[in-house]
Amino acid sequence: MKIFKRAFGLFLLLGIGACGTNKVAGISTSHIDMPLEMREDFSYFMDVCMESPKFRGHCHYAARTLDRIEYLDYGPESHVIGTCYRYSAGMQNITISSSYYKSTSEENKRSLLVHELLHCVIGAPHLNDTKLMSPWQHYMTMEEIDDDLKLILSRGF
Ligand SMILES: [Zn+2]
Repeated sequence: MKIFKRAFGLFLLLGIGACGTNKVAGISTSHIDMPLEMREDFSYFMDVCMESPKFRGHCHYAARTLDRIEYLDYGPESHVIGTCYRYSAGMQNITISSSYYKSTSEENKRSLLVHELLHCVIGAPHLNDTKLMSPWQHYMTMEEIDDDLKLILSRGF
């Protein structure tokens, strides 16, 4: 498939250190192929997204068009830790660095997945005023992730 829109990458900046049937909020997401260990953070994102009057429709659309979330080995020279791809057929997928994901904290796992989902689900660009949508990964607490996600889903971008 040809990539026709944008591919977003989230980068790890060295030095700063931080750049079956499954229904979520009544939406069937069983067709979305993803590692089991990402289901909880994915469900968290969808639950919060479905609470947003502004972006609820995007969540429904994403539930149909998000094809898969998969691990990828970007190679030892790459600082990319996650990407969102949008394809010409309207489908989307997310890739997550396998080596990064398997060696980082629960908070970093959640912020990475939520960051990529915001790109894919609502088309959020990299914003300068939230840690969550910075192109560089920052250390965030679960509360900070929640605050930033709700802020972006309430005001847009
Ligand atoms: Zn990004």
